[in-house]
Amino acid sequence: MVTAVVGANWGDEGKGKITDMLAENSDIIIRFQGGANAGHTIINDYGKFALHTLPSGVFYDHTTSIIGNGVALDIPKLFNEVKGIVDKGVPMPKILVSDRAQMVMPYHVLFDEYEEERLKGASFGSTKSGIAPFYSDKYAKIGFQVSELFDDEQSLKDKIARVIVQKNALLEHLYHKPLLTVDGVYATLMEYKEMVELFVCDVSAYLYNAIKEGKNILLEGQLGSMKDPDHGIYPMVTSSSTLAGYGAIGAGIPPYEIKKVVTVCKAYSSAVGAGEFTSEIFGDEADELRRRGGDGGEFGATTGRPRRMGWFDCVASKYGCRLQGTTDVAFTVLDVLGYLDEIPVCVGYDIDGEVTTDFPTTTRLKKAKPVYEVLPGWKCDIRGIKNYEDLPENCRNYIEFIEKQIGFPITMISNGPSRSDIIYRNK
Ligand code: GDP
Repeated sequence: MVTAVVGANWGDEGKGKITDMLAENSDIIIRFQGGANAGHTIINDYGKFALHTLPSGVFYDHTTSIIGNGVALDIPKLFNEVKGIVDKGVPMPKILVSDRAQMVMPYHVLFDEYEEERLKGASFGSTKSGIAPFYSDKYAKIGFQVSELFDDEQSLKDKIARVIVQKNALLEHLYHKPLLTVDGVYATLMEYKEMVELFVCDVSAYLYNAIKEGKNILLEGQLGSMKDPDHGIYPMVTSSSTLAGYGAIGAGIPPYEIKKVVTVCKAYSSAVGAGEFTSEIFGDEADELRRRGGDGGEFGATTGRPRRMGWFDCVASKYGCRLQGTTDVAFTVLDVLGYLDEIPVCVGYDIDGEVTTDFPTTTRLKKAKPVYEVLPGWKCDIRGIKNYEDLPENCRNYIEFIEKQIGFPITMISNGPSRSDIIYRNK
């Protein structure tokens, strides 16, 4: 059976922890979109890890970890990550890389940096991992698939020569930076080939057989619904679809095989980078939540940037869950809210004096003001609790209030960062 684990919000909902947990009973875990521009934090028996490219199931010895065709594959980063976990005592994972995955080229990272430099204050807050230039090239049909590393030298050099004409025009006239050469790019690609060659395979054929054999497969999404290029807060979005539906494309499996969609929602909100965030909070209130958040503060796993903080947003989450096709909500980081006397929850958006619970397009979203309902806190530590009934009444009320507002069943509650901090709830 295929299950997708995806985010309802701006990312950093705790998908890594949920994937790592569900991977215990899975055979295959696949990354199907995005690149090394965001990270998942995972805490398990081997220690604490920030994964950027590897799927979060990589810590078990019974799993196969796959980089699907939809990923922006930064080969040196992938291999540093593998080395990083093996150096910490994790057994060498079984990794497969799709022969159709495209590679982040060294110039993609440079173009990201140069563009941010050029835009200065008007920038998109990119993580400068080359993701936007990468996907632009993919859809402009000048990207490089992993399979092309195995093409003959002349054909590959001819293609590089064709592609860098455009790149060099921009480097020279727009950015005033050093130019690319065919031999330079070719030499880099040959280094990539050496790093990746043992892992490359026809992933969609592999998965076709795995599905037929009844294997348990997890699709692991990056970021969340708000960052989807079609349905999110465009243009402050990422460059590949963050929705479970895209899992079929980015992994190469039939869409009807995705039977379960676990959408991860964090018990409060956070966001990195610029863009609309209606229930954002500021000042001391935000600092305290940021400091207490996650497993050691809400700071980016890839960039270390302080995350923007806010109260739970039912409007965004209801929409985010709907677009994902949610069958189950995993409600995470609830333990963090135990310090609050009262907890505001955003239940509507006031746009020009009218209150709506439907998530609007960006132009209207810019005008939205949060409408809050304030719920009583539970004022205690809920870590270690295993049964739903043992949670304090106000805590259960908070969960059930949000469940009613978003309209999707909360079947898992995460009350701590480690694998075992989970409460299952039968719905
Ligand atoms: P992802 O990108 O969606 O995987 O999320 P991140 O890993 O960036 O952020 C989630 C953070 O919250 C990580 O530091 C996790 O270790 C932590 N975390 C996940 N679930 C819980 C939880 O239930 N409680 C606490 N306190 N931290 C959690």
